[in-house]
This record gives sequence, structure tokens and C-alpha cells, in this order.
Amino acid sequence: MGDKYEQLVSHLDEFQDLEYAGAILSWDQQVNMPPGGAMARARQLSTLARLSHEMFTSDKTARLLEDAEREVDGMPYDSDEASLIRVVKEDFAERTKLPTDHVAEFTRVTAEAHEVWVHARANNDFAYFRPMLERIVDLVIQSAEFLGYADQPYDALINRYERGITTARVKEIFDGHKPRLVSLISDVTAHADRVSDAVLHQGYDVDKQRAFGLDMVKRFGYDMMRGQQSVSVHPFCTSFSRDDVRITTRFDSNWLNPALFGMMHESGHAMYEQGSSQSLEGTLLVGGTSLGVHESQSRMWENIVGRSRGFWMWAFPILQQYFPTQLEGVDAETFYKAINKVERSFIRVEADEATYNLHIMVRFELETGLVSGKIKVADVAREWNDRFESYFGVVPPDDAHGVLQDVHWSSGLLGYFPTYALGNLLSVQYYNRALQDHPSIPDEIAAGKFDTLLHWLNENIHQYGRKFTSDELTRRVTGESIQSDDYIAYLEGKFKDVYGL
Ligand code: ZN
Repeated sequence: MGDKYEQLVSHLDEFQDLEYAGAILSWDQQVNMPPGGAMARARQLSTLARLSHEMFTSDKTARLLEDAEREVDGMPYDSDEASLIRVVKEDFAERTKLPTDHVAEFTRVTAEAHEVWVHARANNDFAYFRPMLERIVDLVIQSAEFLGYADQPYDALINRYERGITTARVKEIFDGHKPRLVSLISDVTAHADRVSDAVLHQGYDVDKQRAFGLDMVKRFGYDMMRGQQSVSVHPFCTSFSRDDVRITTRFDSNWLNPALFGMMHESGHAMYEQGSSQSLEGTLLVGGTSLGVHESQSRMWENIVGRSRGFWMWAFPILQQYFPTQLEGVDAETFYKAINKVERSFIRVEADEATYNLHIMVRFELETGLVSGKIKVADVAREWNDRFESYFGVVPPDDAHGVLQDVHWSSGLLGYFPTYALGNLLSVQYYNRALQDHPSIPDEIAAGKFDTLLHWLNENIHQYGRKFTSDELTRRVTGESIQSDDYIAYLEGKFKDVYGL
């Protein structure tokens, strides 16, 4: 490649290094740091954010980008070079709209807010968090104004996580599958007594939970030579390179689900990051293309694989070896049903597959209301409970089980939640396509073999990193855009069977 292109790449490498350094500080904040370190860490993160923002939005980037673009002119659309120019141009256009002071202030406030939110949630005290949330919502609205939008401010926010999608389109997708979802949930919960999950709620030694979970995700294909697992309050996946992709887990010594399915989930994210083509390492093309596509990978391994009957026909005897007392006399079918019990529960991250997207729809309505000014922060706890009641028929007992449950708003991540629901839809669209190419996949899963599926994902999705937008990728893989029909059909088929309807 030409001189200018190489200069652009090495300039962006340095920018990427600053971003990764910030990511390591954030990972450390959630995994190792004592609470007393919060203020200092907020300052350090803010400094790094300022430096990296200044570097990326500099005249030097603009000049190199312009020159490099001329050099790569005529190269194929999907080449590394043309793709990098395309993606950097979009990132540059977006980032230069945000003033450096705004970015630094945003980073400082949200880093401080983390500890405030942790305290408020632990003490069930929304009033303690409220002034911080007001400040954050103001900053988020400012961001939307800086970024610009065609129709409404929320468009600017959701576009940062799922490029190309609009609020109106998300609403259309949600409205399109909500009625069938609500009706499935009421059919199933009318027969709640057919499935018990009591077996999951017993004493389960945490070290053994970790050992079993790691055994499973390694078999899925999470490469531990380039991966690591540690403990945090909120499970997440982060990467500092395609060769250093880490997951965190939350353990509950009296409940099997959070750690087990959390590890499967985060390993799905991790395998996506690890699967980027080697040629993209260190460039802005490495990693996942959008949060929705990212979530499609985590949900596929957690749910379509990890909550399938076939998987447990194979894995349950192994789990029994880890927990012979707890699982004595239990059969795989009973266990399979237990992990698929549908409940109108309050906590999103612990929700079953059938109710999950409803949790997101509640947040989508609240966020669009907050950003448009129709909902005030002072009223958001009440608005949460009202909406929750109309969607689920139950009211959260307190704010820790309601408006305070998620970390996202304290991090300034408004516009992020819809990508979870979009990821669920995409997970089934992609999986169905993989089945068309390899009808043997379910039988292989039932024999503890996962490489056909992983290789298909590597080949069709992972290797491209950020080269294609979510919609481009989905069209390339499935021949169509995102839709909810496959997802709803999958849920109806699965849960009518589990509940014998
Ligand atoms: Zn996820």
C-alpha cells in the first residue's frame, strides 16, 4: 500500500492504543479497584478520553484521511483498505461533531456516577442517584444536538451503537412483534405449574460453577490463550486486542443461572472479537460491527445453544459429575425445562428468553421520553413502575428491582438498550441461515461439538470485524434485513413445546 495509507494506519494505531489504555482502566475499575479510587480513576479516564479525542479529530487525521483515500481509490469495497477509509471517515465525521470539552466532561461525570449508582442501588435510594442522572441526561441531550439528527434526538444516540437505524424503525420492529410476544407469555404463564426451576435454586459451590462454566465455554471455542475470566458486579466482555479478549462473571452461590449463562453469553461476545481477521488487528476495523450484531453472538451461544434441549442431553451428565448431590435423581429433560421457565420477573439480565424483549421495550419508551423531554428524571421511577405494570402485570417492589437495576444510564449509555432486542432477532436469523448451510449443527451440539457453528460464524460474520454495517452484513449473510418473524416463530416453537401447549 501507498505511503499515505501506511501513515494513516500508524497514526490510528496510536489513537487505538490510547483507547485500549482507557479500556484497561475501565476493566480494572470494575474488577480490581477499591471504591476509594473512583475520583482519581474518573480523572485518569477523562484525561485519556481528552487525548484520544484530540488525536482522532485532529487536522492531521483529516489530512491523512484525504490523502489515503486518493491512494486506495478503486480498490474493492470489501478490501481492508477501502473498508478502513470508509469506517474512519464515518467515525471522523461523528467524532468531530463533539467538542473535546464535552467529551472530557461526559467521561468524568459518568465515571463518577458509577460509584453513586452502585451506592444508590445497594441502598435502594433513587433520590441519591437522581441529581447525577439529571446531569447525565442533560449531557446526553447535548451530545444528540452536537451529533445532529433527521427526525428526533434519540436517532443520534441509537446510531452510535447501531449505525444506520432510526428510532422509528426500532419502534416499528418492536410494535411488530410485541402482540405475539405478550400473547405467548400469557399462554405460557397460565400453565406456570408445568415447569419448576427449584433445582436451580440450591447451594452450588462457586469454584465448581466456575470450573464447569469455563469447561463449557472452552468447548464452544473461547480461546483462553487469548482470553481471561474474572469476577465483577456486572458481567461484561472487553478487549484490548483480538488476542486479549476478557470476560467477567457474577457468581451466586445459591443459584446456578447467573454465572453459567453469563459465561456462555460473554464468551459469545469474546469469540466474535477473537474471530476478527488477523489482518485487521490494531486497526479500527477489528472487533464487532454494531452492538446488535455483537449481542446476536452472545445470545446465540447463551440461548440457542446453551438453553437448547440437545445441548443439555449432552452436558447434563457432566454437570451432574460436578454437583452429584444437588442433581441426584434429576433428569436432563427436567433440567432443560427448569432453565427455560418463563416468569414475569423484574430483573432484565435474569429474564428468560420469552420475556426479555419486553424489558427492552419498557426502557426504549422511557429513554425516548427522557431524551425528548416528555419524561422528567424526577418522574422516571414512577414512569418505570407504571410501564412495567402495563407490560408485565406486576409492579417492582422497590427501585433496586426497577429503575436502578441497570448500569447503563450511569454510564451515559442511552440509546444502547434497543440493541439487546435487535441482537435477539438477529441471533435467530443468523442461526437459521447456518442451519440451511449445515443441517447437522443441532446433532453436533447434542454430541458436544461446536466447531461447525463457530467456523460458520467466523467465516460469515466474525472475520469481517467492522467492515460492513449491521444491515450490510445481515443482507450478505441472510439475504434480508433484520426482521422479527424468525425470532417469534423460534420462541413460540420452543416454549409451546416446553410447556406442552
Ligand atoms: Zn451482551
